[in-house]
Amino acid sequence: MSNKIFDCIILGGGPAGLSSALYCARANLKTAIIDTSALGGTPVNYCEIENYLGFNKIKGFELCSRFEEHVDLFDVEKFPYEEIESVDLTSPIKKIKTLNNTFEAKTIIIATGAKAKKLNVKGEIDNIGKGVSYCAVCDGAFYKDKVVAVVGGGNSALEEAMYLCQFAKKVYLIHRRDTFRADSIIQERLKQNKKIEPILNSTVEEILADKQVNSIRIKNVLSGKIELLKLDGIFPYIGITPNVELFINQIETDEKGFIKTDINMKTSAQGVFAVGDIRNTPLRQVITAVSDGAIAGVEAARYLMTTKEKVRR
Ligand code: NAP
Repeated sequence: MSNKIFDCIILGGGPAGLSSALYCARANLKTAIIDTSALGGTPVNYCEIENYLGFNKIKGFELCSRFEEHVDLFDVEKFPYEEIESVDLTSPIKKIKTLNNTFEAKTIIIATGAKAKKLNVKGEIDNIGKGVSYCAVCDGAFYKDKVVAVVGGGNSALEEAMYLCQFAKKVYLIHRRDTFRADSIIQERLKQNKKIEPILNSTVEEILADKQVNSIRIKNVLSGKIELLKLDGIFPYIGITPNVELFINQIETDEKGFIKTDINMKTSAQGVFAVGDIRNTPLRQVITAVSDGAIAGVEAARYLMTTKEKVRR
């Protein structure tokens, strides 16, 4: 049980959370960061990041490690692997209950990010780890000289399809429309890749397996024709859904469930800020997440100054 009241507790240790921690600590706030797993966040599993200013190419894991090392230079208390059970954002002193601890804070920065959306087709959930994967970086190496499919038409789907080509002998890229929404530079690169075969205007209807996935049923949405595609693995990359379950009924969200914030990252709850993929942002990138964190850190300090509730060290 932690008996301190923190000035700011940051929920989530990805780029947005780590950047928030840096800015809070530099504003001399008594700061803690809590995560259900190791710090670093989703980009730890990105094969390569090419659009973080100052690094033309860097592995997600390396960039996130550098973020954490930077935060470690400051007095930030880190609580990784804390299973958060409940959060009370309603009173001036906010409470966070985890499996092993109770934490209190005058401000909260929510940086819990988003998780992969599911296809919601037969055979998907049952075969996670048996040929269905949401992480090419984690599982790609299991598919050496095998045939896999990636589903989706955004940046993630195209980038991860190209990543999988290092291992797989063939990668189908299944997309429900006839145009991709990924950045044009990524689409151009995809065209050069001979191992990738796009299957457009198609949806996955079913994933079939014995002990391991062995095929999928796909439907052409224009003709209605159903086809069986033999393969060894399938990687759905069809977007993300926010990790907001802990905050339901305490904070305003948009129609897709992302937390509404103003330009200062303030949410509808007093002293509560939201940053990164979980908020209703027009762009979800590591660089924008980090920028959100900087704003929220400064705003949390400003909030404490104006409410005169800052805890002195
Ligand atoms: P996204 O941009 O939302 O793309 C999701 C894709 O999945 C879309 O092509 C969508 O089709 C398709 N889709 C959605 N629901 C589907 C369903 N039920 N069945 C079949 N297909 C479905 O998601 P993302 O690629 O995961 O990216 C998430 C965010 O991270 C984005 O903001 C993205 O820009 C960012 N990101 C950036 C980078 C980078 O800059 N290098 C890398 C990765 C991710 P439609 O096109 O028809 O809607």
